[in-house]
Amino acid sequence: MSEQRPESVSRRHWLRATLRAAALAALGGFVGAMVQRGRRLCTKPGSACVGCEERAGCGLPPRATVWQLDPEKCIQCGKCATHCVLDHSAVRCFHSHARCGYCKLCFGYFEPGTAMLTEAAENQLCPTGAIHRNFVEAPYYEYVIEEDLCVGCGKCVRGCNMFGNGSLYLQVHQKICLNCNECSIAKACPADAFSRVSPTEPYLRNADGSSKT
Ligand code: SF4
Ligand code: SF4
Ligand code: SF4
Repeated sequence: MSEQRPESVSRRHWLRATLRAAALAALGGFVGAMVQRGRRLCTKPGSACVGCEERAGCGLPPRATVWQLDPEKCIQCGKCATHCVLDHSAVRCFHSHARCGYCKLCFGYFEPGTAMLTEAAENQLCPTGAIHRNFVEAPYYEYVIEEDLCVGCGKCVRGCNMFGNGSLYLQVHQKICLNCNECSIAKACPADAFSRVSPTEPYLRNADGSSKT
């Protein structure tokens, strides 16, 4: 024969059940938010799957093609820095150390006509100080691009291509680019340097700086 529970016990049960349900709902919401947060990286309009670790398993199919610019066609007009939909352009300078001459007088590093070949800011061509140089041995220096500082203006690329070995070149950084359906730089590019390429070969130069096309 079942006993009638006192009212205070029933209330305690009810309270506990309610609190448990609330805790579970909060946990569910938190997990959902984390999943959404992970997905937001990939589901914003135009985002590109680049197969990174963070995005692995997000469920989005890989992009069929991605945007890239051809360094052989680029005339370093400056529009890569100003016409990307991102405030900080997805186009950045890349450096092929295999092709570089490690010159003391680097035309990608120094302002033309600089008398003093020192690291002083006023001697440097890069407007954002994105190029560092490290002394190797006389008279050689290694030049390193800090990609977070580079804005893709192409000034260093122009200098290096005019008087140097052409080891500096611009590329769409695939981990930054949103892969817009219509790339606004591509529309503005006077050299018709942008095209769609395979995501399995998303860069148009090899590590030694040689062209893949
Ligand atoms: S817009 Fe075209 S030509 Fe100008 S810097 Fe970019 S790729 Fe080069
Ligand atoms: S000069 Fe322009 S393209 Fe070259 S590293 Fe600096 S910001 Fe980048
Ligand atoms: S596709 Fe969009 S994000 Fe990528 S370089 Fe072009 S404008 Fe910038």
